[in-house]
Amino acid sequence: KKNKLINLKNLPATTLDGHNIKIGSNIGNIQEINSAQNNGAECIGLYRTEFLFMGRTSLPTENEQFQSYKKIAELMKNKPVIIRTMDIGGDKDLPYMNLPKEDNPFLGWRAIRISMDRKEILQAQLKAILRASAFGKIHILFPMIISVEEIRILKLEIKNIQNQLHNNNILFDKNIKIGIMIETPASAIISDYLIKEVDFFSIGTNDLTQYTLAVDRGNDLISHLYNPMNPSILKLIKKVIDVSHKNGKWTGMCGEFAGDERATVLLLGMGLDEFSMSSISIPKIKEIIRKTSFSDAKKLAQKALTLPTTKEILNLVKNFMNY
Ligand code: PEP
Ligand code: MG
Repeated sequence: KKNKLINLKNLPATTLDGHNIKIGSNIGNIQEINSAQNNGAECIGLYRTEFLFMGRTSLPTENEQFQSYKKIAELMKNKPVIIRTMDIGGDKDLPYMNLPKEDNPFLGWRAIRISMDRKEILQAQLKAILRASAFGKIHILFPMIISVEEIRILKLEIKNIQNQLHNNNILFDKNIKIGIMIETPASAIISDYLIKEVDFFSIGTNDLTQYTLAVDRGNDLISHLYNPMNPSILKLIKKVIDVSHKNGKWTGMCGEFAGDERATVLLLGMGLDEFSMSSISIPKIKEIIRKTSFSDAKKLAQKALTLPTTKEILNLVKNFMNY
């Protein structure tokens, strides 16, 4: 069984009726590229750059960041690498930044909220990413977006840095793709506005579940309530995918749900274009996709979206997967 899964690694995630899905890896550092490639990742769907900022005593310089991003882009040999700007705050602290103690850190100064208030951090990171974009196929991803204003400001920053690089004869990808995480209920609800501003969406179900259900993702007392199979989450996911397709764009998912076997046929049937997960999950998810028909999965998803309880949804999927 294990060998069979490993042999899947070079096969595409194509359904029985020929619908093709892109499968990516989530990574937190350069060493994980190896495992991504060994498990058959076709892209890096999420590079969590905050790990470059953690476990040290000062901010990484623009040049240090550039070296890391460049190396990853080169190792992936022109396969897409989605670089997410740093997502510090929430449960991820940076002692050297002396972040204030907050009552609700997950609702607080986190991710782009820090980057946008500390422009020198944002600008150094964007410059490093843009410089590295000359060496591979890099996309930029912004976390914790809640508004159109934010993405407009961030795009302006990118434009300014591009002009600066251009004036200094430094190479960069002029067509670099820009996407946002859909991980707040606000962003899912206004996804029809947000899609006009960006090239793609990446759904972060870890935070989207936490914020939609008002259930702390790390609190054991309520962990039984933390379930992305909740009908409210499925409806948001469906809306976001539909909105992107209506605008000729695509949606990926980089939350843990993308690597959850119980979710695969539903997400496939809802039209998700790219699944990005921990590398070890790739073979089994590929296997499920390869033995499912897209048209059956679509019918299943349609049915699931009429069911009012998590339990009924889980049962529906379970029955379907008894091939
Ligand atoms: C998410 O929220 O689903 C996500 C992928 O981001 P992180 O887990 O890094 O918060
Ligand atoms: Mg998140």
